Amino acid sequence: MYQKELDTALSAVAVAARLCREARKTLVDAAAVQKSDRSPVTIADFGSQAVISLALASAFPRDPIVGEEDAAILRENDLLRGKVLGLVAQAAGVEDESRIMDAIDRGAGDTDFRRRYWTVDPIDGTKGFLRGDQYAVALALVEAGRPVLGVLGCPNFSAGEGEPAGALFCAVRGEGAWTASIGARHAAPGKGRPIRVDGIERAADARFCESVESAHSDHGLHQQICDRLGITAPPYRIDSQAKYAAVASGRASIYLRLPRSATYREKIWDHAAGSIVVEAAGGRVTDFSGAPLTFASGRTLAEHRGILATNGRFHDSMLAAIQAVAPV
Ligand code: AMP
Ligand code: MG
Repeated sequence: MYQKELDTALSAVAVAARLCREARKTLVDAAAVQKSDRSPVTIADFGSQAVISLALASAFPRDPIVGEEDAAILRENDLLRGKVLGLVAQAAGVEDESRIMDAIDRGAGDTDFRRRYWTVDPIDGTKGFLRGDQYAVALALVEAGRPVLGVLGCPNFSAGEGEPAGALFCAVRGEGAWTASIGARHAAPGKGRPIRVDGIERAADARFCESVESAHSDHGLHQQICDRLGITAPPYRIDSQAKYAAVASGRASIYLRLPRSATYREKIWDHAAGSIVVEAAGGRVTDFSGAPLTFASGRTLAEHRGILATNGRFHDSMLAAIQAVAPV
């Protein structure tokens, strides 16, 4: 099942991840760039969304794509547009300007979220990308509000501590989760290496991960939740959906995310691919009330607050600690 979808998604994400790496080479001094000029991240964002959208449009012309970017800024900025077109030509061999711009714009449209759609985060974790830390290209296929296929391309991450960086994390509902090198030609099931969540039984023995950026989630509250469960390991802070990859491959047992602002709603493209990778690897993903995530309500997870992904063994005790510390 989903063989053509999987082949298309795997090659699109691998090409996009390589494009991001290329774009990052143009960064001379990440710190300086962060303050004054965000163009390298912008170029990579647009380029990555373009190559993924082009691949999906040719394989599945009727499927909607929901992503973060539209091409409005690019249409006005010749310099930026030229750079994006150059990257896309190099990565995907497509040179037709209007095709590329239309491909980017496809992601900005709305759709019936209860039907089949793809969602893409062309660079998840832009802060990590700029710092030279973790970031991910994330692509998921959603049907009836549930992700059925997810691919994370993590240029600076791997499923095991000693393994070379640059990994795809893939899942198809009912077919498990696996990892493969971003450079591998065939990352199909059976070709990659299966991944599983860890087998840690007691929350106290677990390691949890959270965002690097303290603006994205409440580190203090996460610590209080973990203190209640006797967790002593320091937080494992990584950007992007590499956190889901860490839980899915047993490099951490828990991913906690409670946004600081009570009104912030998570974006679907920040969780669709990661959550299915964790679930297919044997873990569990819910919001802070214990409800499974639904992706049928629009561009955000409108009904959900807080994200908890675990190896599944002590999910309920985590939820109880969350209710005690931070009832939502
Ligand atoms: P992370 O790398 O896990 O910190 O998350 C990166 C993602 O955080 C981005 O893709 C954004 O969509 C999302 N984000 C941006 N602002 C916020 C916010 N104020 N609270 C929570 N998430 C945010
Ligand atoms: Mg993101």
